[in-house]
Amino acid sequence: MIYKAESTTISNTENLRKYLDLPQKGFTMAEYIWIDGHGGVRSKTKTIEGPCKDVKELSEWNFDGSSTGQAPGDNSDVYLRPVKIFPDPFRRGDNILVLCECWDHDGTPNKFNYRHDCARLMEANAKQEPWFGLEQEYTLLGLDGRPYGWPKQGFPGPQGPYYCGVGTGKVYCRDIVEAHYKACLYANVKIAGINAEVMPAQWEFQVGPCEGINLGDELWMARFLLHRVAEEFGVIITFHPKPIPGDWNGAGLHTNVSTKDMRLDGGLKTIKSVMDKLEKRHVEHIKVYGEGNEARMTGAHETANIDKFNWGVADRGASVRIPRQCAAAGKGYFEDRRPASNADPYQITGMMMETMFGGVPD
Ligand code: ADP
Ligand code: MN
Ligand code: MN
Ligand code: MN
Ligand code: MN
Repeated sequence: MIYKAESTTISNTENLRKYLDLPQKGFTMAEYIWIDGHGGVRSKTKTIEGPCKDVKELSEWNFDGSSTGQAPGDNSDVYLRPVKIFPDPFRRGDNILVLCECWDHDGTPNKFNYRHDCARLMEANAKQEPWFGLEQEYTLLGLDGRPYGWPKQGFPGPQGPYYCGVGTGKVYCRDIVEAHYKACLYANVKIAGINAEVMPAQWEFQVGPCEGINLGDELWMARFLLHRVAEEFGVIITFHPKPIPGDWNGAGLHTNVSTKDMRLDGGLKTIKSVMDKLEKRHVEHIKVYGEGNEARMTGAHETANIDKFNWGVADRGASVRIPRQCAAAGKGYFEDRRPASNADPYQITGMMMETMFGGVPD
């Protein structure tokens, strides 16, 4: 997507400042957030009376699904069901962010509501205490659609100095990354850390470990916060798995997984038994591991080949890696390195549950 490269397209957040501490006279702004039909986030605001302490106090709402790729124009109402609330780092005070599920008029989950099935799988296997930690890689683009800070013509120097880089010319937009980190902490999103990535203008944040459905919820909220923060800086976030073809790293969504059994002494046995299950369902997993992932999973740039499953200890070229310290301790977690950065965490973690424990009986 190419945006008009004019500074006038960026709003003046300095001017906003003097309005922010105006009293709200007992009313709360609730930002209803949902996932659209293109893997993006959408939101709109509703005024509610008084503070909201429990998501159950919030009413359903609706929107025009024909404008978001979620419904046909002649039957466009899609319903928003609030599922979780978070403190709003932008408006602060009692104002809240409200994560919603999308439902159709006939009372069935919307086609793009991947949370519903995922939540059922998590609930059915809650006693396994599944934990997930996802490493979300992403790329910052300027308004011209090029990676932020890259020369207008040509390319930056080859990869090497940028990963976890420090210093001018090695990293770009640390301000956005810092702002996002703070926003996540304020919003109670369990952000585990951040680092600059191998390709310049590419970064990573990790969310987790979170139990069950919470991972998908918190990762989506972290994505919302990132888009929303970057908007104020006039920078575009892309989750494209291979934003620049050639000798530039793609962007992934490494998925770290453990269950109660795996975390106990001798848990490595359980981890290894899951490797066999994963191998048998490689195709099913790849189907939900992101669009355009074949451009990223070439076998080069720390990826495995998309067509075959393999696993190894400390092997960053494998589909699944068992961290060295877990192999040594005989317990812990494993890392599925296949998911692309644009994959849906509900689909990833749901598929993982199905492969480990089977589906939910109807
Ligand atoms: P990498 O070495 O692959 O870059 P990171 O440090 O970026 O790893 O991310 C590791 C992720 O694994 C973090 O999100 C962390 O929360 C998660 N994690 C750690 N322990 C567990 C566990 N027992 N189960 C699931 N996830 C875990
Ligand atoms: Mn209207
Ligand atoms: Mn990482
Ligand atoms: Mn990474
Ligand atoms: Mn990783």
